[in-house]
Amino acid sequence: MDLYEHQARELFKGYGIAVPDAAVVDHPREARHAAELLGGRVVVKAQVKTGGRGKAGGVKLAADPAAAEITARQILGMDIKGHTVRRVMLAQPVDIQDEFYVSYVLDRAAGTFLAIASAEGGMDIEEVAATRPEAVARIPVDPAEGVTEAKAAEIAAAAGLPPEAGDVLRRLWQVLVREDALLVEVNPLVRTVKGTVLALDGKVTIDDNAVFRQARWGETPDVPKAEGDPLEAAARARGLNYVKLDGEVGIIGNGAGLVMSTLDVVAGRGARPANFLDIGGGASAQVMADGLDVILSDPDVRAVLVNVFGGITACDAVAEGIVQALESVHLTKPLVVRLDGNNAARGRAVLDARAHPLVEQVTTMDGAAARAAQLATR
Ligand code: GDP
Ligand code: MN
Repeated sequence: MDLYEHQARELFKGYGIAVPDAAVVDHPREARHAAELLGGRVVVKAQVKTGGRGKAGGVKLAADPAAAEITARQILGMDIKGHTVRRVMLAQPVDIQDEFYVSYVLDRAAGTFLAIASAEGGMDIEEVAATRPEAVARIPVDPAEGVTEAKAAEIAAAAGLPPEAGDVLRRLWQVLVREDALLVEVNPLVRTVKGTVLALDGKVTIDDNAVFRQARWGETPDVPKAEGDPLEAAARARGLNYVKLDGEVGIIGNGAGLVMSTLDVVAGRGARPANFLDIGGGASAQVMADGLDVILSDPDVRAVLVNVFGGITACDAVAEGIVQALESVHLTKPLVVRLDGNNAARGRAVLDARAHPLVEQVTTMDGAAARAAQLATR
């Protein structure tokens, strides 16, 4: 779960990282009032869970409260990369001397955390990283040791940041650890003309597995409709693990391992998976029916492969689920079913008895994948 900038700002403040004074409003008239309280001149910033707001016109300086109202009116309702701006943050402007980039991110490939820092932060950091990677320091952080004073100094020195940034680096690490974050990013971290170091923007991604104990952030009201696949959201709402891909074979299986190998076997047979859905161990008929409903709602699907190895899940329950789904879903695409393991014979008999013209059974995984690939690519 991503936090809004203003939530990240609150967090940073709580950990002793200096941030500009700010207020969040959802109406232009409140913007005027808030600007008055903040001293008149303010930066008006769109609150959306996406980056690149500055370049999209979602970050603007307003010279006085009247201008703040006008600017807030322009930015509120704006669409930034599919996110509608519902609130703006008004922040006291600072006079920037230097813009830096600092972040901690979980590096899954390396199995560690990574500090990424650069003395050339700001809106063009992506370009800096792409064209001059040597300007961006990437330092592994051992989570058991964390960011000590020495480690912070090492990161700051590697990136060419001033020594004062070390304090922010240590505090930011605390944010990551204590808030169960997978990512904390400050861009820009600025040094003002007066020499103070401030976090001017913040991005924090809380690990979804820890959201239950980070509940104060509540639900994410902004998760925009455009974000993610709508079917993924629908599947999540029904407690199903569904992932959208870009091929043409819909895949349902039980257990991550079997589903992953089914993807490979389908690919090996010359077709591409359109999506996959893991009905898990111990899946009931209802789960199967829900899953099939989701998979068949994907317009890219040209054929569906159901590959179930009955363990805890009994194949006859899966077959019952398919039969149940056929009652509610109007099947227009071929369905290839491979049932093996616990109660496979009974499951096959259930499907044979239903005798739907679009449902075929193949007893081997490879054979079923080949058939589904053939049906999807003909
Ligand atoms: P982003 O584009 O979504 O990353 O939004 P940021 O919050 O990072 O703002 C974009 C840019 O606006 C920053 O890189 C700064 O250059 C500029 N900016 C933001 N706040 C201030 C401020 O208080 N003073 C000045 N001079 N520039 C600011
Ligand atoms: Mn930024």
